[in-house]
Amino acid sequence: MSIKRSFIREILEAIDEKTISFAGGLPSENLFPTQDLKEATLKILDNPKVYQYTVSNGINELREQIALRYTKEGFPTTKDNILITTGSQQAMYILAKFFENKDITIEEPSYLGAMNIFRLNNLKMKGVKLENDGVNIQEFEKSFKNTKLAYLIPDFQNPSATTYSLEKRDEIVKIVEKNDGYLIEDSPYSELFFDKKMPYISAKLPKNSFHLGSFSKTLVPSYRIGWIRADEKLIQSIMIIKESIDLHSSGFSQYILAEYLKDEAKYEKHLQEIRDDYNKKASYFSEQLNLIMPEFKHEKPKGGMFLYGTFGQGVDTFALVQECLKKKVVYVPGNQFYIDKIPNGEIRFNYTHSNFEQIEKGIKLIKSCL
Ligand code: PMP
Repeated sequence: MSIKRSFIREILEAIDEKTISFAGGLPSENLFPTQDLKEATLKILDNPKVYQYTVSNGINELREQIALRYTKEGFPTTKDNILITTGSQQAMYILAKFFENKDITIEEPSYLGAMNIFRLNNLKMKGVKLENDGVNIQEFEKSFKNTKLAYLIPDFQNPSATTYSLEKRDEIVKIVEKNDGYLIEDSPYSELFFDKKMPYISAKLPKNSFHLGSFSKTLVPSYRIGWIRADEKLIQSIMIIKESIDLHSSGFSQYILAEYLKDEAKYEKHLQEIRDDYNKKASYFSEQLNLIMPEFKHEKPKGGMFLYGTFGQGVDTFALVQECLKKKVVYVPGNQFYIDKIPNGEIRFNYTHSNFEQIEKGIKLIKSCL
């Protein structure tokens, strides 16, 4: 197979305990609600059904809870619009299989894990430049006319932290409708806003969109539970792919989540704790960069888990990371997020997994390698 593995997955396997890692998109373990999850687990533990095979689309209780959250946000949804997946990573795989061999418009830079799935399923990616308020609309329109399919991450994008303006969200809706195409909206970070939540683009495209969600960034990634929200007919058409891959996502994880989510106020409180903590870390990371390495131009993130920026021309961050690895600090070079992977001066930093001391030390180590 000619497709290379993800640089990030390889790095995660290669680094040792002493390395300060700004590479993987890991949530902060200190924020996992372990006690509440333990209580939810204890409540379901004696019920034999949680150990049995279950339905392919996901247990009713969990699909209902997810549907309710959309409906409350003004995006009417029932459990029949929801397909539970093994992380949103699998959601993307299912959709890539569904649209196999087609052309797809993506943002550049974009999420590495999605790009690899598209390559594996022979989807031809057409990159559109991402500006600081979303994709360049003229370029997007030109590309979408041909592909009639797009994959976008409009909230606190991985890797660039970009969030689409309301205007650009509306423009995307018009273009998708006019061309009668499909939008895949990937939203794992939308709840991690520091200021306000933006409306989903999919909400105005209920028949032409797949909205992807996940509990990996808001609760714990280990349960491997994500979902696709789509028109009921579309859900029915992709079910065969889900069934063929793994019959169903972990029933055990689904029952724990459904139990935990019964207490909405508790989940909301937990989300707010994450937002507050990540906001502090994002500020600290940005301040330290300005202090120690002012040549790295960036904006403080407004949510999510990443800080993105550039040294500009003249610094090859792919070469630099090899030096950094020797000094036991690592990040992801920006070229990894482009279709052609030509080295550039950009870097993606994950700021959620390190503590304040590691953030300062890590940036100083990178500076010493420059
Ligand atoms: N989409 C994006 C944009 C991501 O950053 C990630 C995780 N890095 C995923 C999807 C996959 O997340 P999960 O499978 O854990 O839900």
